[in-house]
Amino acid sequence: MSLENTSFESLNLDPSILRALQEAGYVNPTPIQAQAIPEVLAGHDLMASAQTGTGKTAAFTLPALNLLATPHPSKSRGPRILVLTPTRELAGQVNDAARKYGKFIRARTVSIVGGMPYPLQNKLLSQPLDILVATPGRLLDHMERGRIDMSRLQMLILDEADRMLDMGFMPDVERICNALPAERQTLLFSATLDGNIGNIARQILRNPKTIQVAAQKEKHANIEQRLHFVDDMNHKNKLLEHLLIGAEVNQAIVFTSTKRHADLLAEDLYAAGHKTAALHGDMTQGARNRTLTKLRHGDVRVLVATDVAARGIDVHGITHVINYDLPKFAEDYVHRIGRTGRAGNMGIAVSFASHADRYQVRKIEQFTGQRIEPTVIEGFEPKRPAPRMDGPGERPRSGKKPGGGYKGRSQGAQGYRGDNQNRSANPGQSFGDRNAAGNRQDAGRGNGPFSAQKRNEGGRSNSATAGGVSVKTAAKAARLDATRRPRTFG
Ligand code: AMP
Repeated sequence: MSLENTSFESLNLDPSILRALQEAGYVNPTPIQAQAIPEVLAGHDLMASAQTGTGKTAAFTLPALNLLATPHPSKSRGPRILVLTPTRELAGQVNDAARKYGKFIRARTVSIVGGMPYPLQNKLLSQPLDILVATPGRLLDHMERGRIDMSRLQMLILDEADRMLDMGFMPDVERICNALPAERQTLLFSATLDGNIGNIARQILRNPKTIQVAAQKEKHANIEQRLHFVDDMNHKNKLLEHLLIGAEVNQAIVFTSTKRHADLLAEDLYAAGHKTAALHGDMTQGARNRTLTKLRHGDVRVLVATDVAARGIDVHGITHVINYDLPKFAEDYVHRIGRTGRAGNMGIAVSFASHADRYQVRKIEQFTGQRIEPTVIEGFEPKRPAPRMDGPGERPRSGKKPGGGYKGRSQGAQGYRGDNQNRSANPGQSFGDRNAAGNRQDAGRGNGPFSAQKRNEGGRSNSATAGGVSVKTAAKAARLDATRRPRTFG
């Protein structure tokens, strides 16, 4: 049977799961689902490479839920399925998916992550449960305190195992694995199965089946990627403001490289009249959850986030991802832009880069195997000619004149210049200048806001555009407020 013809009905899932899928509006399984579900139902261990956005969560959640259709003979209360995730947001997303798909099978699911109060978690763990979704560190804490009975565990799922490896969770994961019943089924999902992750998979899994999905998402076919070369922070802010007032933006995530900068930029955007919130690892889990709920409900239109949020946010309304700062690792670029263009929608990913960032741009291009075409918007052209970005992976020859290739190429970015022309009421202005302490500045002082207030907040090298937020007075923010949308959220 070809994958295109596969239906959920043909996969032998329990009728109550099919009912939940129908309610979710899913018509056919995605390729990773069509391949993984039969293998898991047949009882095999599985290692699968699939990026976020391919439907991988349902690929493991659906056959896991199918286990619950058969009652367990043991009277114990512990979980039958354990899902380990690298981040709290991803744990929340998997937990939500398990609830959604397990609605009619009455799956009892619990999420246990760091940053939440222990007494509440102790209470949750004392009740009978079927599915436990957890981040490794906090789970291990509870296991070592004897709070979880793993005796009836039948299935272990490692989601985004490559990320767990990157984040240094593997020793914890190994300790957890060693404390689980040896007679279990284990599934490992990872963006890549190369290198160390392959070795780890071979240690944890038993005769696994391997699935590699050449996801359409990997080609980012539904995400338009744009690159803007910027002169400095002030230029970034003007561009950002211009993009955010564009009618095509429904919701946007703006990525910064530091937590502090995320807070400051969020404040400035809010002051400029955008429904904005910050999301980063210094916030309590409760605050992170509340922000995500507001994002989901559309009460937040612009989320300013660090990479902690790059995985696990699944909000269909996000039309734009803006890399205010480029990610440190090329791989994070893929995860960031994957926040848009979800569930078949189109998305736009915009990256700001200084001249010093051009090697990072190239690394990203090498990682994705795709060129990111430089683009300019009329009225927002960089003062300094953009570097030549000829062949993928080719370092620019120093001292060579750019020869006009940049503007010429970007003019070829059809529709974009025209689309954005005259959008900004005031293209020469931007929002929210601050000094290094985060205080608003008098606009009269130093018309080169960035030059006077360059900051390095520790997360990145202090390139021409690293660090803080630039410009503005309360008066300018108020002016922007008046010309744009009402302030509704801080
Ligand atoms: P994931 O890769 O698990 O993060 O899923 C990406 C998005 O695709 C989520 O919003 C899911 O709700 C959605 N999705 C998953 N499977 C299907 C399907 N078979 N049909 C339609 N949408 C799906």
